[in-house]
Amino acid sequence: MVSNLIRYGYAPLLLVGVNGTGIALAGAGASKVWLLALLAATVGASFVAERALPYRREWNAPMGDSRRDAVHALVNETLILGSVAAIPVLAAVATVADLWPHRWPFAFQVVFAVMAADLGITLVHFASHKVGVLWRFHAVHHSVKRFYGFNGLMKHPLHQTVELTAGVTPLLAIGLPVDVASVLALIVAVQLLLQHSNVDYRVGALRYVLSLNEGHRFHHLKWAGVGDVNFGLFTLVWDRLLGTYTYDPGRQFSSDDLGMAAKPCFPDGYLAQLAEPFHARGACADEPVDDDQPHPAVPAHARDDIDRLL
Ligand SMILES: [Zn+2]
Repeated sequence: MVSNLIRYGYAPLLLVGVNGTGIALAGAGASKVWLLALLAATVGASFVAERALPYRREWNAPMGDSRRDAVHALVNETLILGSVAAIPVLAAVATVADLWPHRWPFAFQVVFAVMAADLGITLVHFASHKVGVLWRFHAVHHSVKRFYGFNGLMKHPLHQTVELTAGVTPLLAIGLPVDVASVLALIVAVQLLLQHSNVDYRVGALRYVLSLNEGHRFHHLKWAGVGDVNFGLFTLVWDRLLGTYTYDPGRQFSSDDLGMAAKPCFPDGYLAQLAEPFHARGACADEPVDDDQPHPAVPAHARDDIDRLL
């Protein structure tokens, strides 16, 4: 009973309940502290739900990463909040013309902002797997060995800044209001929790449209090429257009599938992770790849994944 409640109620609770409450609070002009309290309560609910209905029970156990991930989350969320606080100043520089649909109902304005941010952030994410200098920084996020809600914010702060700049600058250019930006920041954080969640929740046919944990696990497969799929933050619409969408309902995941096969010795410590992109070894693996010969490090089930994707 409780399991089914979590299995089918968890995603609607966050997507509709939490995001809807955030929209109502911001739309009513409530203090930003309420949005922060809502986010903190959602993070707490995420940890409880992951323990009550885990996809992998072992992913709830720290792998020497809890304190590091807490620092990543604290730093990155603080940067997001600082950016939101700086919106009036940023807007003065970045706004080209106030074309914002101020007359739309507040919820519609937020949905519009989410859709626009989805496009910008997804394209930078896609580029981060193709452009060497971006991959150096994005690799921090792909070093995870377990897939749980809190590691959605486990990113190099410079890479997060590039992603958010791409997502928000077009909105700033047309006059993004601070209240919409505030609730957008909450919705991004909630999405990262859902997308990396270890809760075995289900959303039915919406899994083919929304970029949630079932699809995002494929993105964290550790083999180069295999994990270059499902880049979307909120939706999988852009992946379908880019030809990078994939899904296999029978695929099961374990820690052996996650991380980066080409970087098995990626550092675990917070400061070491921040420094890694600046080292020569932070570049892409440069072993020559013979397309006719499967890489010896790629196991049989990963080769099946590759065959399916090609
Ligand atoms: Zn990625």
